Amino acid sequence: MDLLDTTAEAEFREVVRAFINEHGHKGKRADGDNEEEALNRHELKAWRAALVERGWVAPAWPKEYGGAGLTIKQQFVLNQELAEHGLSNVGGLGASYFGPTLLVHGTEEQKQELLPGILSGEVMWAQGWSEPGSGSDLASLQTRATRDGDEYVINGQKIWTSGAQFADRMYLLTRTDPDAPKHRGISLLMLNMRQQGVSVRPLTTMDNRQPFNEVFFEDVRVPVSDRIGEENRGWYVGMTLTDFERSDIGSNVAVRHTLASALERAKTASEEQVRGRESGSWRHAFTERWIEGEVSFLFAFLNVSIQDSKMVPNYEASMAKLFLSELNQRVSLINHRLLGLYGMVWDGARDDAANGTYARAHLGSVSSTIAGGSSEIQRNIIATRGLGLPRG
Ligand SMILES: Cc1cc2nc3c(=O)[nH]c(=O)nc-3n(C[C@H](O)[C@H](O)[C@H](O)COP(=O)(O)OP(=O)(O)OC[C@H]3O[C@@H](n4cnc5c(N)ncnc54)[C@H](O)[C@@H]3O)c2cc1C
Repeated sequence: MDLLDTTAEAEFREVVRAFINEHGHKGKRADGDNEEEALNRHELKAWRAALVERGWVAPAWPKEYGGAGLTIKQQFVLNQELAEHGLSNVGGLGASYFGPTLLVHGTEEQKQELLPGILSGEVMWAQGWSEPGSGSDLASLQTRATRDGDEYVINGQKIWTSGAQFADRMYLLTRTDPDAPKHRGISLLMLNMRQQGVSVRPLTTMDNRQPFNEVFFEDVRVPVSDRIGEENRGWYVGMTLTDFERSDIGSNVAVRHTLASALERAKTASEEQVRGRESGSWRHAFTERWIEGEVSFLFAFLNVSIQDSKMVPNYEASMAKLFLSELNQRVSLINHRLLGLYGMVWDGARDDAANGTYARAHLGSVSSTIAGGSSEIQRNIIATRGLGLPRG
């Protein structure tokens, strides 16, 4: 795949830039903004409406399902322009991971029923994968779904569920056959979060936010028709979703925007505000981050070219995720250091820059090497599936 735009892609890029000129002010997100929190902000609704109108919430979905039928490369151009302008693509996990999985594994009825709500933002979804004893070894999950006629009855617990306190529905992995080998007794179900038997308890992180939750299920009933894929084959449906999650390329581009904002600040702010810029070690470290930002962009491109060839990135997605999440931590640290001691100020500083933005982003970045599979797990995947090494 060519790194440069074809004529048609260059024309499409101009269309996107014109759109951003007209509507972009509605979709700005702050450094360190959490996706779920951002989507709940009022002003983003107008931005979403403008994207929905063009089918750009899920640009590569077929038009019949509310997408724009764009090629993967055009989708990349769109995501790149949005990310480089610091704009949210508003998709969230519904449009980015769950919707594409439904397109592959869902029935026609499920697609017709569920995809419109994902695009309009009327139905927020949460992902019920992790449990207290099952994170990296996800297939050991214990949340039980027992068949009772046309329904399943769910009992158990999920944890680290992002945005569950705002979610209307959850897709979750459940154990439907406790006697089968662990990967073969799992089914993927969808449930209504606002029903009896579901309780959500938010968890507070060290940066004083509540991005995720514990979710408890007590005799929660789900119709059998709300299962995706065959009974006891849910693991394989879930892994399609996880591949989409790891190959999410928007953030590999967004890091360049974060670096460009810090560079602008380093050039224009008063000496007192950005004490770090005078130090040689800061300059060298920042330059290294800049180069790594370009590498991260190339990883995004690699995954796009795989998708463009109608394949799903696998260990390549793990390489991108591993590199980017560790880079995010280094970038937030260097931005933090730019402000000198002001970088430590949480609230009440004299200007926005030093008002906790970078401190918050720094604390928030710690979890990025755990979310979506820890760095160790990504290295295991690269070692076995990418390099062909035997399992350790
Ligand atoms: C910001 C954030 C958002 C999240 N959102 C969601 C969500 O919406 N829904 C959801 O279901 N989950 C979510 N998670 C949970 C996430 O998927 C798990 O935290 C992750 O898979 C790790 O599982 P664990 O926390 O149980 O750690 P463990 O699996 O207990 O791992 C503990 C440590 O052991 C290491 N380790 C484990 N196994 C191996 C191995 N085989 N080889 C080498 N090292 C190993 C790990 O790397 C880690 O350092 C989120 C997590 C974070 C941080």
